[in-house]
Amino acid sequence: MQTLHASKCGLSTAQLPSSILDVIDSLTKAGYEAYIVGGGVRDLMLGLAPKDFDAVTNATPSQIKEVFGRRCRIIGRRFELAHVYSGRELIEVATFRAPPKKAVTSAAGMILRDNNWGSIEEDFARRDFSINAMYYQPRKGIVLDFCNAIDDIKTKTLRLLGDPKLRFEEDPVRMLRTLRFAAKLNFKIDPAILDVFTPEATLLLRDVSPHRLYDESQKLFTMGHLNRVLPMLIEFGIWKQLFADIPPHIDAFIERAAKNTDQRIQIGKTINPAFFYAVLLWKPFLERCDFYMHKGVVAAEARAQAGLDVLKRQATRTIIPRFAETFIREVWEMQTRLLNPKPQQIEALSGHARFRAGFDFMLLREKSGDQTTNGMGQWWDAYQLMSLDEKERVIAQYNRQRTKSRRKVAVTEDVVETKPQQIEPLVKETESRSRRSRKAASANERRTEQNASIALDNGIAADHPILKRKRVKRDLNTVVFGPIQ
Ligand code: ATP
Ligand code: MG
Repeated sequence: MQTLHASKCGLSTAQLPSSILDVIDSLTKAGYEAYIVGGGVRDLMLGLAPKDFDAVTNATPSQIKEVFGRRCRIIGRRFELAHVYSGRELIEVATFRAPPKKAVTSAAGMILRDNNWGSIEEDFARRDFSINAMYYQPRKGIVLDFCNAIDDIKTKTLRLLGDPKLRFEEDPVRMLRTLRFAAKLNFKIDPAILDVFTPEATLLLRDVSPHRLYDESQKLFTMGHLNRVLPMLIEFGIWKQLFADIPPHIDAFIERAAKNTDQRIQIGKTINPAFFYAVLLWKPFLERCDFYMHKGVVAAEARAQAGLDVLKRQATRTIIPRFAETFIREVWEMQTRLLNPKPQQIEALSGHARFRAGFDFMLLREKSGDQTTNGMGQWWDAYQLMSLDEKERVIAQYNRQRTKSRRKVAVTEDVVETKPQQIEPLVKETESRSRRSRKAASANERRTEQNASIALDNGIAADHPILKRKRVKRDLNTVVFGPIQ
């Protein structure tokens, strides 16, 4: 073990939020040892902004509870932890852990329960990567380094503590963590890890709960280097374990969405983590829609059923929470509504709770070369920037074009939905407004204002197909799923 001077590692208390200092100080005052550990220390040393700070102590969860009282909640069963609230922030406080007892591991060697308290040396050996196992005591200005992690920081090497094969067997999620940290930190993976990171090893992920895999997938999507990690997921065979029916191929749409996600994170914009699932599952969803349409199911029903099927299949790998599933299906449903909106609903649609996500999704499709959007991504893009007068004018124009093309192509409602008319780009519009269209547009505006207020009140418009749709009976026997592998 070596004791490093924090200042020589580029660390100072000035970089720390008061919440973590408050936790460390309170535990120290109560007579316990307390350190900052994990990603917070690692990221500060690398000059990155830490996502959060985790604390570790020799106090047991109930002793932590005694120190912080009502500010503390004990959570977790497999992995008991204390959540301490300091101001508006939440700090995770763990107790030093010893190796798990034999009886609590599965037949495959996976750790099922892990609440055996121990010393700091034992705790260190339980951590995953050397760079995640540095213990920083900010008040003493020291970092305890048990495994020369500082060298791995300098050489940018991701090294697992202990025997990599065993460490993957104990917790297969460490495979995902390997790729996440390698991509996020731009570190090379230690050859000892590469030796055991085989397609067979990735099969161990089948034993991990789909809830935990969903959480991990979200961390992959939101770490800011999604575009870098996606090819790695394919290369290491993780993709197949995480995504049931998504072909392991990064097409232009997925790539664009990944880059866009990374950019948004970089500039501090919020992202809905379910959005990228909507992107990944878009192709399987369309294929499933086709499947039902060929069986003669009407378009709206086919979409609803296809959405259910695709998400149900994905849940065998990562269980997407219900609210996120609803979000995904609404984004998909928005694609139809934005593609071929009823003129009188255009303004209400632009105020819909899912408009922004649906529009972003459509624009990404369009910019990645998907011509089936029929230019409507750009149309909506321009529409949003227009004054009320201009909006009136382009809605009237849109209406005329729509009526004309409807007359020309005498088709059924369903076909109209799938083969929309060509809409001229909004920005090129120059024609002056006629009296008739002005009258019609102002009537539309009144109506659409009403719709918008419904949309705002409920979060979802009352006429939204998702609310209107009758639930179909799912006959799984007729559902032809692809092979699981
Ligand atoms: P970040 O928060 O930036 O994603 P992190 O390293 O802090 O990265 P957490 O998931 O917050 O990751 O975990 C905190 C620490 O707990 C890790 O740094 C590591 O020491 C330990 N840890 C987390 N998950 C595991 C695991 N599966 N096996 C061993 N140790 C782990
Ligand atoms: Mg962390």
